[in-house]
Amino acid sequence: MAAKPEFERRGISAAPGIVIGPAFVRDAERLHVPRTLVDATAVEGEVARFLQALSDTARELRAFKADIASRMGDDHARIFDAHLMILEDRMLIDETSAVVRNERLNAAAAFEKVIGKVIASIAGIEDEYLKERTIDVQDVRKRIIRNLLGKDTRAAHRPGEPSVLVAHDLSPSDTAQLDRSIVLGYVTDLGGRTSHTAILARSQGLPAVVGLENFVNRVETGDIVIVDGNAGSVIVNPTPTTIEQYENEIARFRDLEEQLLTLTGYPAHTLDGRSFTLSANLDSPDEVDSVIEHGGQGVGLFRTEYFFISQEYLPSEEEQYKVYRQVVERMEGKPVVIRTLDIGGDKIASYLNRSPELNPFMGWRGIRFCLTRKDIFKTQLRAIYRASAHGQVKIMFPMISQIEEVLRAKEICAEVREDLKRERYKLDENVPLGIMVETPSAVALADHYAREVDFFSIGTNDLIQYTMAVDRGNSKIAHLYQHLQPSILRLLRLTVEAARKRKIHVSVCGEMAGDPLSVPILIGLGIDEFSVSPNMIPEIKRIIRSVTFDECRALLRRVARFRTTNEIETEIDAFLKSRAHNGRNGP
Ligand code: PEP
Ligand code: MG
Repeated sequence: MAAKPEFERRGISAAPGIVIGPAFVRDAERLHVPRTLVDATAVEGEVARFLQALSDTARELRAFKADIASRMGDDHARIFDAHLMILEDRMLIDETSAVVRNERLNAAAAFEKVIGKVIASIAGIEDEYLKERTIDVQDVRKRIIRNLLGKDTRAAHRPGEPSVLVAHDLSPSDTAQLDRSIVLGYVTDLGGRTSHTAILARSQGLPAVVGLENFVNRVETGDIVIVDGNAGSVIVNPTPTTIEQYENEIARFRDLEEQLLTLTGYPAHTLDGRSFTLSANLDSPDEVDSVIEHGGQGVGLFRTEYFFISQEYLPSEEEQYKVYRQVVERMEGKPVVIRTLDIGGDKIASYLNRSPELNPFMGWRGIRFCLTRKDIFKTQLRAIYRASAHGQVKIMFPMISQIEEVLRAKEICAEVREDLKRERYKLDENVPLGIMVETPSAVALADHYAREVDFFSIGTNDLIQYTMAVDRGNSKIAHLYQHLQPSILRLLRLTVEAARKRKIHVSVCGEMAGDPLSVPILIGLGIDEFSVSPNMIPEIKRIIRSVTFDECRALLRRVARFRTTNEIETEIDAFLKSRAHNGRNGP
């Protein structure tokens, strides 16, 4: 067989590193239906299983219909009538049962065969109404097959051997549920640099390239791919010469990383002695080892929502307490900023049964969700306060856009503390309370917020999204998403100034803090702390240790006059190049 030709596709670099391995193409729409031969004695059982799957699907659809009817009215719910009618279609039922009996095929494969013919016949007809019905049939098909295959359907979408995961898109819950030991890297059609898949890949230390547009359809499971997360490209079916080239590149990258790790024991201070706290963002509790390994001085952002979306039910207070306590104890007295649930946007827990929103990023997200689901909020706060007895905990509220939200959240914290004290739990009564500054309105009123809280953490990922009106996960407009946009620098300055005036701690925990080009600017602004993906810590430390605070302030003054990102980046790039050899290995 002739070798498949090598080709390269360029996308957006989402997480650094290079990896070579077989592709596993995950297409959520394409269900993997196994074909097996059924034993003659088991044929009737298999037909019964098919009928059971039909009635399970009907039950699901009726519940769905009732839910939609109660929330959106009967008109909307009626769309499910067509689905329910398909389930009662005699031809489908009889033909599938006949294929099971006559061909001794397993029910899922038999049903797939029959429904496949139905879909093909409708798709060929030039009629808009019938074309629409294909979507209903496809939907019912997926539901029945899922029910026939049982809970393992998801497993069929996971690679069985270490592979590069290729997908049209990956939701945060998809990514959070993946077994990391078999995922070598991520490649997706959609997504931008600060989409949650990109952030997760960075914190897991896996190379990733996103925004490749129509890539899923150009690669097959088993094709060898090279993911170059540094350059933002993917090479499919590489020739032996290309593989050798990249193997050398991998070795060079590894040497560089090892060299950077020698900085672990040294402080993050500039050549003229200004020191910064360099801590880590944590998406999952098992990343805490990596924080310690890379010399993190604390956890600057613990995104608790991943723990919620990576499972099938709402975690109890006890379960949460165990997880928070474990992280706090592992950090041995170093600060751990636990962010309360930032669910919503693209981070959805299926068990919460939320109805879809038209603009989820501007919707029922973060603190807005928690203040309406006080039960969930209070349970989480109880677990966090209980964990505070085991180390240094700080609590942070996400998505703040009105001062009332902070006042209310503080009141609820006070209620929780009183309850726990009454129940004789041990806790730190003075856990500092802070907010994410990640909406333009929070920046505009930063002076008021600074009077109400103990610290700020600037979430540039969302702040840029909301200020520039650029969806952070949309690859089409990813070029408009820039850390060093002049308007963003102004907002950062306002926030830091407000924090300085009230002498409260200010950190940056958005991805901008881990972007080498942005580091001298954040130094110049005089933030107190950088919180970045664990494996970015050494590189950020190297930069901090190679510059002076004074020259970064001068650089900031220079770039503050520019009107375009390009001018700002060019100036910083030249500055960093001139300081590249200033690194120190001594204290
Ligand atoms: C941010 O918005 O910058 C941030 C750190 O929060 P998240 O990425 O979880 O939205
Ligand atoms: Mg955010």
